[in-house]
Amino acid sequence: MNLEELQSYEIKEHKFLKDINSDAYVLTHKKTGARVVLMPNDEENKVFYIGFRTPPKDSTGVAHIVEHTVLCGSDKYPIKDPFVELCKGSLNTFLNAMTYPDKTVYPVASLNDFDFKNLMDVYLDAVFHPNIYKEEKIFRQEGWHYELENADDDLKINGVVYSEMKGAFSDPDDIVERQIMNSIFPDTPYGVESGGDPDVIPDLTYDDFLDFHSKYYHPSNSYIFLYGNCDMAERLDYIDKEYLSKYEKIEVTSEIATQKPFDERREAVIEYPLTENEDDRDKTYLNLTYCFSDYSDRELPIVLRAFEYAFSGNPAAPLRKSLLDAGIGDEVYASSDCSIKQNLFGFYAKGANSEDKEKFLSIIKDELERTVREGFDKKTLLAFLVREEFKYREADFGRIPKGLAFGLDLLESWLYDDNLALHHMESLEVYKKLKEAVNTDYFEKLLKKYFLDNNHCIFCMGVPVKGLTLKKESELAQTLKEKKDSLSAEEIDKIVEDTKALKEYQKTPDKKEDLEKIKLLKVSDIKKETKPDRNKLYELNGVKYLKQDIFTSGIAYLTLLFDVNSISIEHIRYMPLLANMLARLDTKNLNYGDLSNEIKLNTGGMNMSFNTCRNIKTGEMKSFFEINIKFLYENKKKVFELLSDVLFNSILDDKEKIGEYLSELRSQGESMLISSPHTVALTRATSYFDKMFKINDISIGMDAVKFISELEKDKENSTDKIIKEFKILLPMILRKENLFINLTSPSDKQNELDDELSLFIDSLYTLDIEKSKIEVDCNEGNEAFIFPGQVQFVAMAGEYISKGYKYSGAFNVLRTIMAYDYLWNNVRVEGGAYGCFANFTMSGLCSIVSYRDPHINNTLRIYRELADYVENFECSDRQMNQFIIGAISDIDVPQTASGEGKANLVYYMTGVEEKDRQKTRDEILSCSMEDIRSLAERIKAAFEKEYICVVGAEGKIKENEALFDKVLNLV
Ligand SMILES: [Zn+2]
Repeated sequence: MNLEELQSYEIKEHKFLKDINSDAYVLTHKKTGARVVLMPNDEENKVFYIGFRTPPKDSTGVAHIVEHTVLCGSDKYPIKDPFVELCKGSLNTFLNAMTYPDKTVYPVASLNDFDFKNLMDVYLDAVFHPNIYKEEKIFRQEGWHYELENADDDLKINGVVYSEMKGAFSDPDDIVERQIMNSIFPDTPYGVESGGDPDVIPDLTYDDFLDFHSKYYHPSNSYIFLYGNCDMAERLDYIDKEYLSKYEKIEVTSEIATQKPFDERREAVIEYPLTENEDDRDKTYLNLTYCFSDYSDRELPIVLRAFEYAFSGNPAAPLRKSLLDAGIGDEVYASSDCSIKQNLFGFYAKGANSEDKEKFLSIIKDELERTVREGFDKKTLLAFLVREEFKYREADFGRIPKGLAFGLDLLESWLYDDNLALHHMESLEVYKKLKEAVNTDYFEKLLKKYFLDNNHCIFCMGVPVKGLTLKKESELAQTLKEKKDSLSAEEIDKIVEDTKALKEYQKTPDKKEDLEKIKLLKVSDIKKETKPDRNKLYELNGVKYLKQDIFTSGIAYLTLLFDVNSISIEHIRYMPLLANMLARLDTKNLNYGDLSNEIKLNTGGMNMSFNTCRNIKTGEMKSFFEINIKFLYENKKKVFELLSDVLFNSILDDKEKIGEYLSELRSQGESMLISSPHTVALTRATSYFDKMFKINDISIGMDAVKFISELEKDKENSTDKIIKEFKILLPMILRKENLFINLTSPSDKQNELDDELSLFIDSLYTLDIEKSKIEVDCNEGNEAFIFPGQVQFVAMAGEYISKGYKYSGAFNVLRTIMAYDYLWNNVRVEGGAYGCFANFTMSGLCSIVSYRDPHINNTLRIYRELADYVENFECSDRQMNQFIIGAISDIDVPQTASGEGKANLVYYMTGVEEKDRQKTRDEILSCSMEDIRSLAERIKAAFEKEYICVVGAEGKIKENEALFDKVLNLV
């Protein structure tokens, strides 16, 4: 069948998108008006999504709760959690659902044809025929409900989205962002919180929730996307016959209102929580955000990102410099958002004070006026455009399937205008035009129009308030107490009954015949062989040189690893600072602004970092100073010139800049602690017994942030010390005997760098230096860290190798069982936490962490009972088949060229050979119930001694104080 023969659709547009080498069709479904975009091409990682325009009218989170609940069972798949069934047992490469401020999208991706069709069907049935109308408990579980186990208990509110959003409302970056959006679009759906404000979520009724679904989840309001190598006509025919043709066209009013411009600048203030002991000095967010033009402007998103770089991305940007010199903030940045109907651009100073407001505004105004008058630095704009074009051509989205990234880009115009579906898909011509415009006054004119002559802007201030979380918690407790007091005995009994009934519902297994309605691949359909090793080891001038022959579209991905194991931990502590600051200081040849531009003009990225890895066979650890550079071969000479300039000619005595970067790093470090408490808790718990994690904690974890924060307190002396350390470190690191080179590139290009690399090797330091060793001691002792949010992150870790046990591929299968069965059911579904993950490494580490969790003790109990669960593990053949496929899908992730190169380098460094990966794969594919049960002993051994770390709310941690040796503040 071909597309032209399809009677039920009309082709509105057909063109070839040369930027991404794909055909594209825009169609409409004749009967319902459903909108469709197809991108047929030879990409094996196929993508499908269905999306709806879902503008909310309040902050009850109704769009978000509908997103969660439609995945909890449907007509064809009447089980409690088809989403989880798919996660467990499909070869998907992407499976999720996302609520945005104006749309909800349900994407799936897979390399396997059978699997892809199956995923599509489960998702389509979910959105059009969900069980939410038949089963109210789905709404209560995922949205919100009153919880009362006994009539005498305190009344509580729980629910997955409720916990998720309590977590999201803990992060000050998020809080400020949300306030800006709400205040600049007061008359549109962006004026409310689509995810749900935890204070407002309990206002949502079951009826309003159902109304939202019936209004918006209709083909006439839908957006359907298909990408990759599949029979598109066959797919469209199926979508029509199974779903769309059963509906009549209706008028759905879901257009997103446009915000009328303001007559004058408005202001907003939002409070965010600090813990009781935190200092509120230098903690205020200052922001000025402009709103202008809309989705129909193809150039503006790129122009705005160029402005970001010109105003703050380049370390020498005049605006950044003026604000920091005036002592306003520790971190200054600009940020644009073109993913919604109207575009936004904001200037931020973080770590400021409220009295800086006027100065903040006048410095920005002066700088905008000056730029319009005197012009942007041309090279800065050009450098940015060249780098962006590199990224656009490279199209490397990490683990996000390429097709999905393109599909989501479409919605940035398609959602607002049916005729502009492919509007942002051909940017190369836009880059060309903008690069030419650099030498005119084009950018300056836009700056004048959109900023100086524009009153649609808002000044927003995020003000820290000590103890706000405790206050909110006690207010909520009070409200709930009053609520309970107002209830009659019968009403209270009803809540107790409902609580029981919900738990009962959650615990009742699905019927076997219903589970079987979800089609599954068989283990026998899965490829037996692991991916082949791509590593080839060579030597260049006595230096080990690893290469992977991979097609990279003309890009060289080069990694230089300097072994730093002979340096003492006292020096190592400064290495992350060095990695961060090195390419941002003046060199003998270039000032730091020009250096930043030159790096952008000639590379696709030059990054330095400090990393540690461990050989799985010998247990030996290695730490590296790592340099990653990607570039086009034609720029190789310039790239090595710049690299040498940065490494050997940097002017290290610049106290002022080092002091400035130190404050910025402290601010970024603290934000990292607050936005990723689960990672912090996990690293910390593991560091109590594992030296590699101890080094990680010291170099990039909480300990590193504390170290930087201590240095910042006495900047005058610290900067001297830092300069001294940098001068000691560079000759210790940059030595031939430390160097290891890795290159990912097609083989015919691989020798092209030999001359440059040889010269580089010869230029390395040879003078004598003191030699030492990285040595660390682990500090045992369970800790809790108070953070200003209202949820918990509960981590437990252990290991079994030192107790004489060995790793097995069955652990990969257990990981799937944990993620989608044991932890999912106990910690998420019943416990109400947003998430919970387990990890088992080849080096024998076992760790579990919950995410945005209302509990501490209950979650720990579930962790403690894990070994028993594993010992008595039982499942059907079908389930085992499912868990095995789920484990394989975690491994068989499609990789980008750079990703595959990196993975191979890691295999080499950690001693994981092809035969080890094959052994693991064999163990996964043959895994039996007995194999899972045999892991119980290893888990018992690992968790015998409890290494626990919790990040959480003050009140909750104090309740559980007895669990910890220490209770400290996170920041
Ligand atoms: Zn969610």
